[in-house]
Amino acid sequence: MNLFRCPDCGETRLEEVMVNVTTASTITALDEGGDAEYGSQSHEGGVTVRFQCINCGWSINSDVDNTEELFDYLTSREIHPGHVDYERPIVPKNVPEI
Ligand SMILES: [Zn+2]
Repeated sequence: MNLFRCPDCGETRLEEVMVNVTTASTITALDEGGDAEYGSQSHEGGVTVRFQCINCGWSINSDVDNTEELFDYLTSREIHPGHVDYERPIVPKNVPEI
């Protein structure tokens, strides 16, 4: 089942781009000079600015800025939202999926 299919590259994975998000990160190491390594992160707040193809960046109509509108947008185009396998390798642009 596809969540989405990019009209430019055929990718089926979609990402949500947000601004004004507060992120809290666990610091797991701090080297001399101040280089830090980070562990888990949590996010709070934020405003969605767009939904876009995870491979090429093609974005859905900018009027779609929440997941309810995303659902309506996809279903109005006869795309039936479901689950997507994010562990699957990203399909390179313009290369057909085997
Ligand atoms: Zn794409």
